[in-house]
Amino acid sequence: MKTLYRQFTIATLFILAISILIGFTIANIFYITVTKEETIEQNVGVAQEIVATVQNVPYSEESFDRYMQAVAKLGYQIALVDSAGDMKFYGEPFDDTAFPEEAQRVLTENGTYTGLDSFKDQIFMIGHFTNELHNTVGVPFERDGENYGLFIRPDTKLLGTDIHSVLIGFVVAIGLVSIIGMIWLARQLTRPIVQLTEATKHIARENYNYPLDIKRNDEIGQLSESFNLMQTQLQQNDLARKSFISNVSHDFQSPLMNIQGYADLLKSPDLPDADRLAYTSIIDQEAKRLSSLTRQLLLLTSLDQGAYPMKSKEFKLDEQLKAVVRKYRWRLEEEDINLSYSLAPTLFRGDAELLDNVWDNLLTNAIKYNKPGGSIEIALKTIGPDVIVTFKDTGTGIAAEALPQLFDRFYRGDAARKKDGTGLGLSIVEQIVQLHHGTIKVNSKIGEGSEFILTLPHSDVKQT
Ligand code: ADP
Repeated sequence: MKTLYRQFTIATLFILAISILIGFTIANIFYITVTKEETIEQNVGVAQEIVATVQNVPYSEESFDRYMQAVAKLGYQIALVDSAGDMKFYGEPFDDTAFPEEAQRVLTENGTYTGLDSFKDQIFMIGHFTNELHNTVGVPFERDGENYGLFIRPDTKLLGTDIHSVLIGFVVAIGLVSIIGMIWLARQLTRPIVQLTEATKHIARENYNYPLDIKRNDEIGQLSESFNLMQTQLQQNDLARKSFISNVSHDFQSPLMNIQGYADLLKSPDLPDADRLAYTSIIDQEAKRLSSLTRQLLLLTSLDQGAYPMKSKEFKLDEQLKAVVRKYRWRLEEEDINLSYSLAPTLFRGDAELLDNVWDNLLTNAIKYNKPGGSIEIALKTIGPDVIVTFKDTGTGIAAEALPQLFDRFYRGDAARKKDGTGLGLSIVEQIVQLHHGTIKVNSKIGEGSEFILTLPHSDVKQT
């Protein structure tokens, strides 16, 4: 695998190489177009200056040599050539003292020789630094009636002055620091990614506690924060899934055991008729409980899938509520509960089948958790943009500390343990209300009763 770290380092080195190449080319172009001419002019100027000083002045041979040596010490390599081709050198020796043909003009035609111009084939400025007689500027001069050629070039050894060493050190330091910096940066960038990759592997193995120690104030830091959040959420989902499975298994297990137990008892041939009837009724009750549990689970699963196909249509909400009340009239009478309602005629657009489940759950709860002789009030009204439906009972009420879990799956209050129920009803109610973009609130006082207030939004409402 091509690691990100390797790719980053290679890319950095590549960029560095390209910048060196481009920098070198630009420096060359600058040298060829500007510096070279200036250098030649400058050197010719210096040579002419020397000639002007020594020409026609009756220096002794010794004084002349001393003067030339002094000039050489200032940073020049000098060659003195006479018309016979004899050469005399001052300063640092040349590596190659071959006398170039073009330089002959200096002696024969009194012309000026500019050796750097003859390095035409060398695009790069390397030619500037070659230590050859070829690479000089030459001017003619006369001394004691003899023609000479004075050839000079700046001593490149002396060119490496302090400032040059400082500059070279500076460039090398920049290069080194950039390379080390880039490598360090690459490590800094890739380390958290490696950690994140490791963490994803742990998540795949259902370990949601992999510690991610990434504290950064950038996009990678944000990614790691989101990752930690996702890890916590996945852990919660995993716990919820496991507890859901265990609850479902338990809720299926107990009615099945009851059915099996009473069915065994029924096998006894000399069972009194009264017992037989009692056992059959228990089996019937438990089978109904299983059937309701399955129905609720199926409904929850389909709601959970997120893309529940809402079958929205316009219907009379007040009529639907009345129908639910009619369905439970016998139970209300049996439990001696007084039910009253005030239902404003309301046309509502929504999923009638789902909403029927909501009213069914709320009414059966209001009956189940009520007291004999208690009462239930149902109200339907439109306030401003919303339809408000309330179910108020005078039942057992709900403890304040139980309210936050009320809509959790399988949550059942202490008082509910003795009654039928699955603990799924209110979580289904909440989901359906949310699907209709509504909200549900509960006001309850233990011992006094509860009030469930549903608010369904305006856009779906029409007053008849
Ligand atoms: P269940 O099948 O147990 O009725 P629900 O989800 O419908 O499940 O309700 C969850 C719990 O909320 C119930 O077990 C009960 O403790 C409490 N509860 C719901 N409605 C009422 C109510 N009207 N009065 C008192 N307690 C209620």
